[in-house]
Amino acid sequence: MNSGIKKVLVIGGGFAGMTAALQLSRGGFAVDLVEIDPQWRSYGAGISLHGSTLRVLKQLGLIERFLDVGYATDGVEMRGPDDSVVVTLPTPRVAGPELPGGGAIMRPALAKMLSEAVRASTTNIRLGLTFTDLSQDADGVSATFSDGSRGRYDLVIGADGLNSAVRAKVFPNAPKPRFIGQSVWRAVLPKPEGIETVTMWMGPKLKVGMNRVTKDTVYLFLTEDRATNDHVAPESFVATLRALLERFPSPIIRKIASELSAEHQIVYRPLEQMLLPRPWYANRVVLIGDAVHATTPHLAAGACIGIEDAMVLAEELSAGADLTSALSAFEERRYERCRMVVENSGRLADIEIEGGNREEHASIMQVSMKTLAGAI
Ligand SMILES: Cc1cc2nc3c(=O)[nH]c(=O)nc-3n(C[C@H](O)[C@H](O)[C@H](O)COP(=O)(O)OP(=O)(O)OC[C@H]3O[C@@H](n4cnc5c(N)ncnc54)[C@H](O)[C@@H]3O)c2cc1C
Repeated sequence: MNSGIKKVLVIGGGFAGMTAALQLSRGGFAVDLVEIDPQWRSYGAGISLHGSTLRVLKQLGLIERFLDVGYATDGVEMRGPDDSVVVTLPTPRVAGPELPGGGAIMRPALAKMLSEAVRASTTNIRLGLTFTDLSQDADGVSATFSDGSRGRYDLVIGADGLNSAVRAKVFPNAPKPRFIGQSVWRAVLPKPEGIETVTMWMGPKLKVGMNRVTKDTVYLFLTEDRATNDHVAPESFVATLRALLERFPSPIIRKIASELSAEHQIVYRPLEQMLLPRPWYANRVVLIGDAVHATTPHLAAGACIGIEDAMVLAEELSAGADLTSALSAFEERRYERCRMVVENSGRLADIEIEGGNREEHASIMQVSMKTLAGAI
């Protein structure tokens, strides 16, 4: 095998880990994927995808499936707190002239698409399992697992998300995820009349947006600043989100507020971020996805860059260089793009929390979206 790597362990079966397992097994590597959740679940909220993610789905042969179960549109419409359109940001058709510049899908639908593709590959999937130890020497990594079994690998990929145990093991001094003083509410609703593409309403200190996850449904997101990361009781979700929506004069948002109910799959999530300074690998263990660059969702690009990490890593491992050169090339190609997403998302959050300059907000969005549309 190229780069001397034959056997790979992927720890974590989220969007990044699934993509890595899929692409590496298709490339002829022997892949074990361990996922801690015995049911391999994903929670019921929508997720927005840039054209750059559609480009990867196309490369994976999954774009038709995405178009069946998700939805793709062009452009992002930014409105004031009423329904006045402030600016429409273009989303370049980076996945090809036939495909819109962005899209959205329910998370379980995206996870199902990817997990079915992984199941159909040669990947050895082990659910309800994690590692208990990883020990490296010059020739490989010995892993022990929570069921007492052991394995020997040429490379271990940590794709175990924001609170990565692989990161804690390999980079004990890594920065901890930081609460940024803002939280997100999400819900799934029938598509309001007149909403065709991603639409955001910028209110004083609150932002609400929606994106179509199917022809007839949207997922709604609302960012709210909160000084502390306290527990919010699920029984209060409907009343709290309704009160926040009622702060917008937009008739569309007011109507949603009046009709909001527990049926709308409301999810509340405090926002955290973490960017691991380079290096992103230690000998034979490398990190991808949120494990190494967890961003807030202000550019809706966290899953996008994690999925891209997987593709670039598979490409570099197949390219024929030695392992260290492959991992170094992976990091070189990924660091700046991922840093941009984490830091620009953080700046957007700060502007929203401060009730700051809307032109700066729109300009950061535009520049970041243009960068994301670039080649990886
Ligand atoms: C509110 C919110 C909205 C967002 N919206 C968007 C959006 O619209 N578009 C977008 O692109 N991104 C969005 N993101 C970011 C996106 O959700 C993440 O970047 C993405 O899910 C990260 O994928 P991952 O595979 O790296 O990690 P995860 O999705 O966290 O997956 C990690 C996997 O590892 C498993 N695991 C954890 N620990 C272990 C262990 N010790 N052993 C084995 N398995 C383990 C977990 O069960 C999980 O399956 C949003 C994030 C938030 C918080």
